[in-house]
Amino acid sequence: MIEYSQGNVLLDIGPGTIEKLRRRNVNPNTISRIFITHLHLDHVLDLPAIIKIRLFDEVGGPNPAPPNLDVYGPVGLRNFLYKMISPEGVYSYLSEMMKYYSYLRIREVGEGLVEESVNLRVYSSHVEHYDSVAYRFEIDGYSLAYSGDTVYDERMIKLAENVDILIHECSFPKELLLGKHTSDEELIKVVKSAQPKILLVTHLYPAWEGREGQLEEKLRRETGCRVYVVKDMDILEV
Ligand SMILES: [Zn+2]
Ligand SMILES: [Zn+2]
Repeated sequence: MIEYSQGNVLLDIGPGTIEKLRRRNVNPNTISRIFITHLHLDHVLDLPAIIKIRLFDEVGGPNPAPPNLDVYGPVGLRNFLYKMISPEGVYSYLSEMMKYYSYLRIREVGEGLVEESVNLRVYSSHVEHYDSVAYRFEIDGYSLAYSGDTVYDERMIKLAENVDILIHECSFPKELLLGKHTSDEELIKVVKSAQPKILLVTHLYPAWEGREGQLEEKLRRETGCRVYVVKDMDILEV
């Protein structure tokens, strides 16, 4: 979650997100925008839930005017939600409740500028994973790029050029790299080219378990960047 002058924004919404917001005393109804990188379950599973929660106020009564929720994501997002919450969807019972459907605004994005509002400008770019996009935010005077899941991709480097904060996946060590993901060696190349001020490393598979400190140390040494291998509930204040 990014907390900025105009509200709260989520970058993906995997399983457990709402529970973790609650633990931080963040009301899920204060989330105004969600930027989805792709539709794999570890990135979207709490999306139907946050849409539903909006129909209720803080004491559990019906919310007559749910606050708008803008959801951005790659092409396919609209169809995904249709399969979830439409009258023909898996959770068709929700379609009945969603009289205020207009609060949910779905934006499918591709290349370039996707949002421009007070203190917020957002760009997206395709990256090589599975119909995935990455984002760059200009927010409250800071710049931040978020890879989502991706292989080593020149388009990601371009998007992240000289950002204050780069949030990048590092799913596997080089010798165990599987699927369309980024290894530590590849991430070093990304960081050397894009030159972010701060690197936040996320999306570690169990292959990294017990080696997070080593990874952080190696990335620091090789890139000269401020590096943090982050875990759930960590907070970075800038
Ligand atoms: Zn994925
Ligand atoms: Zn993932």
